[in-house]
Amino acid sequence: MQMVKQIVAGLLMLCLSAAYGAQKIIDLTHPLNSAAHRWPTNKEFELEVIANQSSGDGKWYASNDVSFSEHTGTHLDAPIHFALRDGIWYSDTIPVDRLVAPLHVIELRAKAAANRDYLVTADDVTDYESAYGTIKAGSVVIFDFGWAQYWDSYEDVFGSVSTNTTTFHFPGVGIEAARILYDRGIYGVGVDTPSLDYGPSTDFAVHNYLLEKNVYFLENVADMSELPAGGKGVTLIVGSMKIEGGTGGPARLIALVDTDEVNSAHHLGNNQLLIVLTAVLSILGKYISSDSI
Ligand SMILES: [Zn+2]
Repeated sequence: MQMVKQIVAGLLMLCLSAAYGAQKIIDLTHPLNSAAHRWPTNKEFELEVIANQSSGDGKWYASNDVSFSEHTGTHLDAPIHFALRDGIWYSDTIPVDRLVAPLHVIELRAKAAANRDYLVTADDVTDYESAYGTIKAGSVVIFDFGWAQYWDSYEDVFGSVSTNTTTFHFPGVGIEAARILYDRGIYGVGVDTPSLDYGPSTDFAVHNYLLEKNVYFLENVADMSELPAGGKGVTLIVGSMKIEGGTGGPARLIALVDTDEVNSAHHLGNNQLLIVLTAVLSILGKYISSDSI
């Protein structure tokens, strides 16, 4: 009878994992350190070791002080960054349910490799939708320009050796593409470059347009190559700092990949699996209840 109980428990676990979906977890965040890129007008990340020592009796104590610009490394731009009006959101007032969202990844590596000043067009967005389906309301869209591979080089990220912002060359999002994304009702937009507006921008048109509409940005997103094509089956968690009155802040971006959804074409879906397992469990349950345990 003990063995039957163990089988029932095992099957129950299988049911639960089928119900919640098998998941793979991917980190989309660059490490935060003094080499983390920031806009050149912002202060550099600093870490001061305050304690890193034995505290006696075989115990240990370590603690650091850190200081940095809100817009350092992989980070969030809160809408207040470029817009002031009633109801505009700060880092701490973006509703938390907007920080967990289905993800769409629009991959434009080849176009960005061919032209460092590439601007995402309306066609890039609609071509994605033809391949992967309409962008969902309440989702986050991230553009993958393949820029994460350049992270260790200032010159490769900014397209310049200078900190003069008029010399910058990196890809970004065009205003027509931004309008389509807003029409779809997205919560946030991200890029793997330092800014949604491309390097040569002087008017920051997309910052002005989308942030004023309470859409938040994610910038310097890390490598997305492990994600399923198009971001299919991925939920993004935007773990941004809850800075009161903040205009942004470093963000831990965590992608939850529902591997069942990604592989759904190749094996039984969750619902079919659940039906089979539930039937097996009910048969075993009758067997147990007809016996004295
Ligand atoms: Zn920013």
